[in-house]
Amino acid sequence: MSFYHIWTIGCQMNVADSEQLSDRLQRLGYQNTEDIEMADIVVINSCVVRQSAENRVLSKVDSLKKLKKPNVLRVLMGCMVNSRVDELRHRFPHIDLFLKPRAFDDLLQVAKERAIITRKDVMTINISSPCAFIPIIHGCNNFCSYCIVPYRRGRERSRPLEEILDEVKDLTANGLKEVTLLGQNVDSYGQDLIDTPDLSELLVRLSKVENLLRIRFLTSHPKDMGEKLITTVANLDNVCKSINLPVQSGDDKILEIMRRGYTAQQYRQLVAKIRDTITDVSLSTDIIVGFPGESAEQFDRTYTLLKDLRFDTVHVASYSPRPGTIAARKLKDDIPSQVKKERLKIIEGLQAKVADEINARLLDCTVEVLVEGKKKEKWYGRTRTNKLVFFTSDAELLGQLVEVKIIKTGPWSLQGIA
Ligand code: SAH
Ligand code: SF4
Repeated sequence: MSFYHIWTIGCQMNVADSEQLSDRLQRLGYQNTEDIEMADIVVINSCVVRQSAENRVLSKVDSLKKLKKPNVLRVLMGCMVNSRVDELRHRFPHIDLFLKPRAFDDLLQVAKERAIITRKDVMTINISSPCAFIPIIHGCNNFCSYCIVPYRRGRERSRPLEEILDEVKDLTANGLKEVTLLGQNVDSYGQDLIDTPDLSELLVRLSKVENLLRIRFLTSHPKDMGEKLITTVANLDNVCKSINLPVQSGDDKILEIMRRGYTAQQYRQLVAKIRDTITDVSLSTDIIVGFPGESAEQFDRTYTLLKDLRFDTVHVASYSPRPGTIAARKLKDDIPSQVKKERLKIIEGLQAKVADEINARLLDCTVEVLVEGKKKEKWYGRTRTNKLVFFTSDAELLGQLVEVKIIKTGPWSLQGIA
């Protein structure tokens, strides 16, 4: 029997890549193990979008030196792996394989040669979660000045519509209930394909797949999100009314230097349009504080934008210079880390209050939850608007849609009874 262990950090795209690798290894007969010491193959799926993530990867890579099992194959995958593999080899001599994001082939080749498999193992693949992440477009063409993603994941490549459709049909036939379509910029989907389908068309086609209850997608780029998509989301019942629309900053000058391609006013108009068209839509956004040169006034504009627009969820990060990006090459990282921390805290404090108020409106309401699993005796899952709900019930509910009455609310999750 051969085992693998995958450690993943970073965006949902990385989670999806790990799931796909996991699936491919299982097809070769390998079994997943949570216990790293038991594994014959250990994969670190890395993220370098910020220094903090990179540091965690580095300490994980270091910890692989201590593995005791003989002949363990140690693999570093993902966005830490750039074109200079020789340098990486020199830096981390205990790592056997370096794979760029999604470049699984070398690993699968070695895995095939090393596998100790019985026929029975290959047969025991089943779906453990009712939700899956499905990449629809890889890479990014935007080159926002702070961002390393286009350098590590390459240019945009859409997957053919029929291929995505077949994959989702296959998964739903095996019990899948919800898909989240992934891309750094899902609005660009299809532009590079011969028949140029778009995200709206993909959603329409997916909405007809039998037994697929929910469809989500992320991330939308404010400069590209069009009216057609907004109307499509409003009109399709099984497309969740939940949109991730990163704004990054509320100040026009900073947005320009970030190369985001919209102004704060245009962003506000887009949000108004979305809220007018899609009833009860939930919105989330991403913010970077402490971008080079960000003055107190510029930061205030971000604060005001968040206070005015009241998002359901805000992901906030301190600016972290990434080697090779336009910002790292041209702009001085001049906001002291103490100031960055303060700004981060201010945004987090505001958002905790806003989210608490938004979620409090759900008290005593009944919401529909797709059950994803159990943690500490409680079932958990999400509403259509992407709110995390924990609830108690004695029934076996994994993968089911359950009506849950909310008895307690907070900024990050809801509690209920079924
Ligand atoms: N494609 C998505 C997100 C990609 S990266 C988008 O366009 O928004 C995810 C988030 O990480 C970004 O939204 C941004 O807020 C943050 N991020 C990216 N690079 C960063 C950097 N150098 N420093 C701090 N945060 C960063
Ligand atoms: Fe990075 Fe901008 Fe592309 Fe998002 S759109 S992945 S932030 S370059």
